[in-house]
Amino acid sequence: MRFGFDLGGTKLEGVVLAEDGTVQVRRRIPSQAEVGYDAVIAAIDELLKELCACVGRRPTSIGIGTPGSVDPSTGLMRGCNSTCLNGRPLLSDLESALGVEVLIENDANCLALAESRHGPRGLTFGVILGTGIGGGLAVDGRLWSGANRLAGEWGHNPLDPEGEPCYCGRRGCVETVISGPALAAWYARRTGVMRPFEEIATLADADANATRDHLIEEFGRAIAVVVNILDPTTLVLGGGVGQTPGLAERAREAMAPHVFLPCGTTPRVVRPRLGDSAGVFGAAWLVKSGEP
Ligand SMILES: [Zn+2]
Repeated sequence: MRFGFDLGGTKLEGVVLAEDGTVQVRRRIPSQAEVGYDAVIAAIDELLKELCACVGRRPTSIGIGTPGSVDPSTGLMRGCNSTCLNGRPLLSDLESALGVEVLIENDANCLALAESRHGPRGLTFGVILGTGIGGGLAVDGRLWSGANRLAGEWGHNPLDPEGEPCYCGRRGCVETVISGPALAAWYARRTGVMRPFEEIATLADADANATRDHLIEEFGRAIAVVVNILDPTTLVLGGGVGQTPGLAERAREAMAPHVFLPCGTTPRVVRPRLGDSAGVFGAAWLVKSGEP
């Protein structure tokens, strides 16, 4: 069996897959990321115990998808928009607390891995568009994490030189333009009303339409950089903002003006075939076969 977890800003999801990929059990609980680091460890411990009770087994290894990544030189987390994780030795703390081997990968890598295992051959670029913006890539069902485990991190590419300051220390990163909070702020500057983007995405008035158009246009401009470099077969859109109506359908048209030789070369843009749980399936696939 393979145990996978997806640690998000608000939710923690866990799944147990049989060797053939069949779901044995799947659960979601709050991630407690807003409470703090120790609460996140406790939540993962609690969910692991619950999954073990359901399937009557305890694994020797588990896979976890997280925001950000483990710095291979220090073992500390970095680049997490759930900032309580940054600078913390999450992997070793989890191994101590849970008593199992822990495999950590960026949540976008897990999304790319899940889609790549089920989709066409070639390069799959996984895009997380949500509170934060991430990316990861897999080729023919295998992850490419990069020399520093940072491959695919397009969320902090520059997009608007005059843009807002970013927590990474720079200004106008992709994340400051098309993340959920950035889109909510864009809508608020236009209307004077602060609403979460999930709500704006469901409205049909002119301001909400303009916010969605702004997202699609800026997404096209930002992702074209990735497409020009990687020439992916598939772009898979994860995260809450990634599910915005019209985004997957209009993304190719939005990127075309910015892609070199766009005729016939822009990738297919899809929503995850495993839905908003794709990341947790990818995390489970991090575990090698042969688990008891
Ligand atoms: Zn940034």
